[in-house]
Amino acid sequence: MTQADSCIFCKIVRGELPSTSVYEDEASMAFMDINPASTGHTLIIPKDHAENLLAVPTQNLTATMVATQKIAQAIHQALQPEGMRISQLNGAAAGQMVFHYHVHIIPVHAGERPGTHGRGSGDPQTIQQTAAKIRAALNG
Ligand code: AMP
Ligand code: ZN
Repeated sequence: MTQADSCIFCKIVRGELPSTSVYEDEASMAFMDINPASTGHTLIIPKDHAENLLAVPTQNLTATMVATQKIAQAIHQALQPEGMRISQLNGAAAGQMVFHYHVHIIPVHAGERPGTHGRGSGDPQTIQQTAAKIRAALNG
């Protein structure tokens, strides 16, 4: 059994686990974080399994960052946060919980100070509605 067989983000890529997807291209994909640190918290991943920044091949790293910019532009347009935190954790000591390289986009509104992780499951309806707004901005 390889790491990719049991990895939850690989399972999302393979369609074996549900996700609220907002974007997909040949090499990368983006979906809503189930425990959002703020409304609109989105994760961007390379489709191919790589544990962290140290392991991800340059081509997939580039694709993921280009996708991250696209999603950030869509979030900026759709949700109009005052700012966005881009977070990327490597190793359990740094707080990484899912060992498939990913970038967090955490929209920040004035006066809020969200961390990288939410404190519990987000409201599914709010997550769906927010994803629909981001998808509309991406397709607009
Ligand atoms: P990290 O600490 O950078 O590894 O963060 C992993 C993130 O993945 C956390 O913010 C989790 O809430 C999120 N997460 C875990 N499982 C899922 C899932 N099935 N769908 C969406 N997000 C997830
Ligand atoms: Zn994986």
